[in-house]
Formats: sequence, C-alpha cells, structure tokens
Amino acid sequence: MNKKFDLLVIGGGSAGVRMSRMAAQRGVSVAVVENAAMGGTCVNVGCVPKKLYSYAAHFADAFEESHGYGWSTQATNFDWPTLKTRRAVEITRLNRAYEGLLDSAGVTTLRGTATFLNSSEVEVISNTGERGVYRAKNIVIATGGWPQVPEISGREHAITSNEIFDIAPFPKRLLVVGGGYIACEFASIFTGLGANVTLAYRGEQVLRGFDGDIRNFVAAEMVKKGVGIRLNTVVQSIARSGSDGERVVTFGDGSRAGFDAVLYATGRHANTATLGLGRAGVATNDDGAVIVNAHFQSSVPSIYALGDVIDRVQLTPVALGEAMALVDQLYGTGKREMSYEFIPTAVFTNPNIGTVGFSESSARERFGKVRIYRSEFRPLLHTLSGSSERCLMKLVVEDKTDRVVGLHMVGANAGEIVQGFAVAMKAGATKSVFDQTIGIHPTSAEEFVTMREPIAAAG
Ligand code: FAD
Ligand code: NDP
Repeated sequence: MNKKFDLLVIGGGSAGVRMSRMAAQRGVSVAVVENAAMGGTCVNVGCVPKKLYSYAAHFADAFEESHGYGWSTQATNFDWPTLKTRRAVEITRLNRAYEGLLDSAGVTTLRGTATFLNSSEVEVISNTGERGVYRAKNIVIATGGWPQVPEISGREHAITSNEIFDIAPFPKRLLVVGGGYIACEFASIFTGLGANVTLAYRGEQVLRGFDGDIRNFVAAEMVKKGVGIRLNTVVQSIARSGSDGERVVTFGDGSRAGFDAVLYATGRHANTATLGLGRAGVATNDDGAVIVNAHFQSSVPSIYALGDVIDRVQLTPVALGEAMALVDQLYGTGKREMSYEFIPTAVFTNPNIGTVGFSESSARERFGKVRIYRSEFRPLLHTLSGSSERCLMKLVVEDKTDRVVGLHMVGANAGEIVQGFAVAMKAGATKSVFDQTIGIHPTSAEEFVTMREPIAAAG
C-alpha cells in the first residue's frame, strides 16, 4: 500500500499519541505507526504499572501501621500472580482506550515497524509481514527509549524494567543495579512486596542530580524500610548456577552473593538503532538520540522528534508538553518553544520524593546567595502507627529576589503535594508569598508555608 498523509508519527507512546490526536483534531490527516501495545512505555511498562505496584507495596506498611490504631490486620498471603493479572487487565483496558481516542480523532493507525527509506518515505512492515510505503509532508519520530545494560560478563542473566512486571516466580532475593529513578523505585516496591532487596550503586549516593539532603534522607528511609543499599559497588559478572536458576553475582571487591533475579536499571537510550535514520539524513548524538533544535526540528527540516528519543528529560508530562508545543507550532498559533524550567517530578520510593526547581548546590551555582529553609519531622500519622518514618521538606530561596527556586520533599504523597506548589514556582512565587499563604491543618504540606527561619545564612 502507498499512501500520503499530512503528518506521519512513528511511535504510539506518550509523545506520539498526543501529537497524532491533537494534530488530527485540528483537521490534519494523520497516521501513527506502532509496533507494540498502544500507549508506549508509560502505559505498558512504565509509569502506570509501576504506580500500581507501588500502591500494592504500600499495603504492607498500612497493615503494620494499622495496629497502632487498634486494627489487627496482618500482611499475609500476598499473591504475586493476582497482582500481575489484575495489572494486565487494567493495562489492556488502557490500550483499548488509547486506540479509541485515536480512532475517534480520525487518526489512521498503522500496526507495524517503521523504517525510513529516505527523507520523505517510510516503510511499514506489519507484524504479519505486509509491507506499505508512506509519505508525509511532516514526519515525527517518537520512538522513545530502551533500557541499557552495560557489557558485563553474564549480562544475559539480568533483566530490565521491561521484564520485571511479569517476572515469575516472585524473586525472593532481588539485586537491583543502578541508583536512579527505576532502581530506587523498584527496590522500594519489591521490598514492600516482601522480597529481600539489595541495591548496588556505583557512586557515593543514589539519585545523582537530586538535592543532596533529599538523597541522603531518602536513602536512610529506604534502608529503614528494609532495602539493603550497597554504595560504591560495581557488578563484575553474573553467572547462572544450579537447576533453580540462581544468579551468582561477583562484585568489584571480589565478594559474591546469590539472587533469584538481577534487575539492571542503568539508564535508557534512544530507540533509533533500526530506524534507518542514516538513509533519511537525520543526525543523532553518540547515544542515538535525535538531535533537534528548539522547535523539535531535526537536521532534515520536514522531520521532527519528540519525547525520550531526543533525550532531554525522560518524563511523560514532558513528552506530552513537547507534543503540544509542536502541534501549536505546525498546525496552530505558530512557533512556540517548550519551557524546561521548573519541571516537577516524583520518585515513587517508599517514602516518595517530590521535587521542583533547583537543588541547594545547583541554586548556589546559578544564583549565588541563597537561603535554605528545612523541616524534618515525624508525620502525624506515625505518632500512633509506631513507624519510625520521617518527613523532610526543604525550600531554596534566591536571596536577592526572595524567589523560591527549589522545593523538595521526602514523605508520603510528596508527588501530590509538590504538583500544586510547582504552579506557584512557575508563577515566580517569592518566600514572602509562601509566608502569606495560610496552611491547611493538620497536613504535612502546611509545613511548606510555615517555615520561617532559614537554617543557612545566605551565601
Ligand atoms: P515511549 O512511550 O517509549 O513510546 C515510543 C513508542 O514507539 C513505543 O510504543 C514503541 O513500541 C514505538 N516504536 C519504537 N520504534 C518503533 C518503530 N520503528 N516502528 C513503530 N513503532 C515504534 N515518567 C513519568 O513521568 N512518571 C513516571 O512515574 C515514570 N515511570 C517510569 C517507569 C519506568 C519503569 C520507565 C521505563 C519509564 C518511566 N517514566 C516515567 C518515563 C516515561 O515512561 C517516558 O518518559 C515516556 O513513556 C516517553 O514517551 P515517548 O512517547 O517518548 O516514548
Ligand atoms: P537514570 O538515569 O535515572 O539512572 C540510571 C542509573 O544507572 C544511575 O544511577 C547511573 O549512575 C547508573 N548507571 C548508568 N550506567 C551505568 C553503568 N554502566 N554501570 C552501573 N551503573 C550505571 O535512569 P533509569 O534507568 O533509572 O530511568 C530512566 C529514566 O526514566 C529516568 O531518568 C527518568 O527520566 C525516567 N523515569 C521516571 C520515573 C518517574 O518519573 N518517577 C520513574 C522511572 C523512570 P550515575 O548516576 O553514576 O551515572
């Protein structure tokens, strides 16, 4: 089949679905190519199933904590196959919902794998082997990313976040390698679900790039909840032994330990290796990410790229924001740039991290004099629950302008709390505005508007 569209989008993930749907709603003829389940990483093997598993893991704490309130529920009989099945049903429902949204917007869905033949033609080979060639005035690459596992001996015995959701049987002893978002989240999740988890990270402290206080605090809380964190630790090799498939891991210091599974969470690279970008003349960086300008335009003017494949900020709301900016630019109000300032983010560890803006150290570099406000406390819930979990909240304020440039939290529902404050930060709220804001009592969130004395003098 040969067909021409105004817009051809490669990849039906967060960026591709949003781009296709919004462009079609503006009267553009659009096709989207997807070779797997609709919705991409976030829906199928990312944000959504991860958050469902995180909820599942939190019940362990809730059962335990309820005793202090007079309940006698026990966290027994967690059934991993039930959780997996119920997750799969919900994800299938979401896949159908995404397909429905595209259909009703008038988007043509092409099921198969896309490859560039040249800068204006894309070949799509369907999962049943049928071949079609498509042309479009504009082509958008939204093929996302893929987990990277370093070249160590026995890497074939490791799994990635793509496989962990359906792992069988439940890994009673899990090694997680890495210290970023996925490593920390899955270490917390599997600990909550009852596994004995070791997290091995090569650096001094997990979550490089986050505020230093937050990193230390969350790592300590994770350890309190049962995660074994080994810092300055590298994996040398993985061997499979015995009939039970035990993974015997040799670490850099020569020590060895056996695990039921080894999860590598060592970053994701752009999914471009088999796209034929060379034939199209689309330039990429050393990691395969498509190089784009401020308007998401690649080295070929009619070819654009969005989302994880451009490797700016690998978050779903960022991919959606980039898609909206490009739709406006191509089919709406004209050129619009995406702002990457004050992007809020959460890490769904136990307890969660919520953060927006500059860490203390990056704020000092950028603004010079800053004031730091910090509050660490036992949340009201835990006065009776018996849990030793604590909460940390921190504000970073530019001294000269009084603007709040960093807001960080470790504690229950940190993501929910920080989302609201991100609006104020984006609007340029000053510490004085925070001080004038009335709190909601009794909440943890009110602490952000009641911190009065800086803990560190400006400088
Ligand atoms: P994807 O969603 O990866 O979509 C790309 C699509 O392109 C895929 O469906 C793929 O099958 C398809 N494709 C690729 N090549 C081809 C081809 N040649 N032909 C046809 N189709 C092709 N972000 C958050 O904001 N919050 C979270 O809590 C969060 N949790 C995460 C947890 C995990 C475990 C992971 C891995 C990621 C998480 N993320 C989270 C990141 C988020 O999932 C990504 O930033 C987001 O999915 C990027 O969207 P995208 O459209 O760029 O790429
Ligand atoms: P991250 O970039 O967050 O973390 C990668 C980790 O792997 C880092 O600790 C890094 O160490 C380490 N690492 C990299 N290479 C090696 C290596 N060769 N050997 C040992 N360790 C290595 O990536 P993730 O894979 O955790 O997640 C990918 C992205 O997905 C995230 O960056 C985030 O944008 C997104 N995501 C978002 C979530 C959310 O919003 N809650 C949840 C999950 C993912 P070092 O720091 O020393 O370089």
